[in-house]
Amino acid sequence: MRVHNFGAGPSTLPLAVLEQVRDELIDYHGSGMSILETSHRGPRYDRVHRRAIENLRELLGGADNHTVLFMAGGARTQFSAAPMNLLADGGRAAYVTTGRWSEMALEAAARYGDATEVWTSRESGYDRVPAPGELEIDPGAAYLHYTSNNTIRGTQFHHVPAVGDTPLVCDMSSDILSRPVALAPFGVIYAGAQKNLGPAGVTIVLVRKDLLERSPEDLPETLSYAAMAAKNSLLNTPPVFAIYVVGLVLRYLHESGGLAAAERRNRRKAELLYRAIDESDDFYRGHARPADRSWMNVAFRLPTEDLERRFLVDAEAVGMVGLKGHRSVGGIRASLYNALERSSVEALTGFMDEFQKTRG
Ligand SMILES: *Cc1c(COP(=O)(O)O)cnc(C)c1O
Repeated sequence: MRVHNFGAGPSTLPLAVLEQVRDELIDYHGSGMSILETSHRGPRYDRVHRRAIENLRELLGGADNHTVLFMAGGARTQFSAAPMNLLADGGRAAYVTTGRWSEMALEAAARYGDATEVWTSRESGYDRVPAPGELEIDPGAAYLHYTSNNTIRGTQFHHVPAVGDTPLVCDMSSDILSRPVALAPFGVIYAGAQKNLGPAGVTIVLVRKDLLERSPEDLPETLSYAAMAAKNSLLNTPPVFAIYVVGLVLRYLHESGGLAAAERRNRRKAELLYRAIDESDDFYRGHARPADRSWMNVAFRLPTEDLERRFLVDAEAVGMVGLKGHRSVGGIRASLYNALERSSVEALTGFMDEFQKTRG
């Protein structure tokens, strides 16, 4: 029996993909071995690698001006890799701080170059993101970095910041491919796979091709966008299993109607849960300012921490797991990534209603 998995990452995967992985595991396409045991330099893995990239490009409508990289070290490594590649010639980077992950990205960048915080919602407990037009543009900046979805506090950009010709560098770890995205303003997009795309172990990085020139010669090769691009991410042994599963998830997403359909499903799931919160007479209280509510991570509180503990225990008893808020903030957090079914959200809202009636 599978549970309703609201975990923030690693998180639920499409059942159809897990079943395919299981079916192909021992004997991959008649090779007599699993993909885990296959050379990353051979034709079998080569097909897996190329198809994963093709599927990603297809979902993104081509992405012809960007190179697709598979890198290791998680999104956390990109906090450093982005400034190491893009700020080596000097120049300054602008950072929008909307939560703990973007704080960490800024701290990392400040170790490698001139990185300045240009906007933050720290004072209000990261309950919001800048409104369209609110960011001041620094036309001389090498790039502007932001986190499209704050996984911990549950806020999300529902627009792409307009900053003129300054390339955007975006940490999309927790909402990549949850909705369509126009790539033109983005210099770099990076995302750890383990939230919306697959298992942990691989980071998807899209780099606008003209920016590859900025990678300095003296970077460790596996951190250099230019060196990784030159070898199509096969500079060293890539995380083959993670890339294989990501490829299956991408194909599944494509076959389920692509990003426009994913957006519709995700929006409906989020609306269902926020409605339950808003109609609870303040028993459940959402953290984010309504305009900036995340469709991926819904963070809310109950009247007391005692009730929150009770809520988590009772939820688990009926097969709903992963609802504990991030350890730094507490409360409840339900993550509604692409692969989470609407029926799981319906089960949760039903449970919330029942919990309030019996314990409220
Ligand atoms: C989870 C997360 C990270 C950290 O990802 P790792 O792959 O564990 O390094 C970074 N940024 C955001 C927005 C996240 O949600």
